[in-house]
Amino acid sequence: MADEQSNADRADELYRIRHSTAHIMAAAVLEMFPDAKLAIGPPIENGFYYDFDLPRPISTEDFGELEGRMIQLCKQDVPFEKEEWSKDKARDFFSDQPYKLELIDGIEGDTVSIYKSGPLTDLCAGPHVDSSIACEHFKLEKVAGAYWRGDEDRDMLQRIYGTAWKTDEQLDHYLTTLEEAKKRDHRKLGQKLKLFHFHEHSPGNVFWKPRGWTAYRELESYFREIEREQGYEEIRNPSFYHEDLFDQSGHLEHYEDSMFTMDVHGEKYCLKPMNCPDTMLYFGSEKRSYRELPLRVAEFGQLNRNERPGALGGATRVRQFCQDDAHIFCAQEHLFDEINLFLEMVDATYSLFDMEYELELSTRPDDFMGDLQMWNEAEDSLKRALEQADKPFTIDEGDGAFYGPKIDFNVLDCLGRDWQCATVQLDFQLPRRFDLTYTSADNDEETPIVIHRAIAGSLERFFAILVEHLAGVFPTWMAPTQARVLPISDEQNDYAFDVAEELEEAGIRVKVDHRTEKVGKKIREAEKMKIPYMLVVGDREIEDGTVSVRTYREGRRGAMDVDQLRDEIVDKIESRELDVDVALTDLSRPDDTGTVGKDMEERGY
Ligand SMILES: [Zn+2]
Ligand SMILES: [Zn+2]
Repeated sequence: MADEQSNADRADELYRIRHSTAHIMAAAVLEMFPDAKLAIGPPIENGFYYDFDLPRPISTEDFGELEGRMIQLCKQDVPFEKEEWSKDKARDFFSDQPYKLELIDGIEGDTVSIYKSGPLTDLCAGPHVDSSIACEHFKLEKVAGAYWRGDEDRDMLQRIYGTAWKTDEQLDHYLTTLEEAKKRDHRKLGQKLKLFHFHEHSPGNVFWKPRGWTAYRELESYFREIEREQGYEEIRNPSFYHEDLFDQSGHLEHYEDSMFTMDVHGEKYCLKPMNCPDTMLYFGSEKRSYRELPLRVAEFGQLNRNERPGALGGATRVRQFCQDDAHIFCAQEHLFDEINLFLEMVDATYSLFDMEYELELSTRPDDFMGDLQMWNEAEDSLKRALEQADKPFTIDEGDGAFYGPKIDFNVLDCLGRDWQCATVQLDFQLPRRFDLTYTSADNDEETPIVIHRAIAGSLERFFAILVEHLAGVFPTWMAPTQARVLPISDEQNDYAFDVAEELEEAGIRVKVDHRTEKVGKKIREAEKMKIPYMLVVGDREIEDGTVSVRTYREGRRGAMDVDQLRDEIVDKIESRELDVDVALTDLSRPDDTGTVGKDMEERGY
């Protein structure tokens, strides 16, 4: 019933299947609980739900029976038939269904539409599939509490969620992906790999542990480096401001609910939710000439947003974070080149992690501000840059912000989930709000165009996406510990430290596991922590001046000279090689210790 998806999606076959499966479930629930009161049952992403008022709490234990009844209904191949009833007839029919009665009251006109499918007659606008047989590729997923129309003063209803697809193959693929996603959950891996933790004393924020912070800083360094290569300069501004700044930028008007505000000696101050306003202050702090444009200014400022508790989710949605944020001040004639440079940067970054992405250009909305010709030229520059980049893109006509067109990038991780990360947004208004000008070649005062751009967006969130995309297996350049030296007995400890020192001098992050433990155990533990290089040293290695190399990716590699190994690792770090099998990265592997034992046997230890 609820319009949770746009009308454009309504004709979609999956939409109809999911909506219809919700009806099938309601019919089965009524079979099990004849007194059940039915609320609403819309299709949602990947599936559907239906809200019920039931005589007892339902749980996943009931799913076997419920699914069995649903399958029966599907197999009966009953048609979904639409009828148009007068409201009086509907009220009469649904007289013991209070939620349906409320819905009828809310519908305009004298008639309501009804769908019949076998035993169920439901108030519904449709559309549906022709027959229940199309609904058999489903699975019930979970039960949750839900309030009728979100009203917490009403009795809580029970919401049953399910997923539904066109074929069993699609269903299986979805369930497998879901299973894999659970294993890859960054909150779980963050704990297991000692990357970060969370604490109730600062809910919704990431507490970085040394290992996670090391990898995070590598990511940050990467962004600094590619920005430096493209001529960006970096600034650092305060993280809280008098409210006047956000009044001037317009954030106070549109964004105050998401901002943390505080009282400082009787004046209202705000923690900054984004770097844009204070970067405008930087531009305005000096007299600017056209010779300085395009001026590319980056800031890794600490941002704070007052997310609601329900919106928080591990590191993907946090209250305090940092962005790979930058602003480019330029003139119309720079736009094409600047967008081009940015597209190159985006492509290089996502390629680093073997991530696919999709592009979408959003153009002038009806309520646009500024000069029409400026808009047209800007959109033309964006389109030409996209065409030159030779990447397929879609155009969302009229979906740009009122202050400028933008390109959004949707990153697909290896499970096929998409994440909105990079964005490049043109802004004709903000520089005006801050009275920013530069002196043109003709000695006129001109207003620059501002480009807001980020590749990762929130680094915290991007890091979490990477952890899940890579299943926690970082490429060597990002790995918290890049090599671990594993002496077979205490006798090789000195040699192990010598090896470590040589690697460390070359800038490699290396640790020695000098505990008095069996080397098999040391290897297993290093594998569990997904350390790229494991260097076993015994008497033979001391004699030959070598190390016995194992890598996380390839397993046992055999003896290598230390300087040869050092050069290999340094090379991988400098080239930021993706020495990880992204799609194949399998979580069950690190705990599979069979090969380690066998390897030890071969070597005679
Ligand atoms: Zn319906
Ligand atoms: Zn910005």
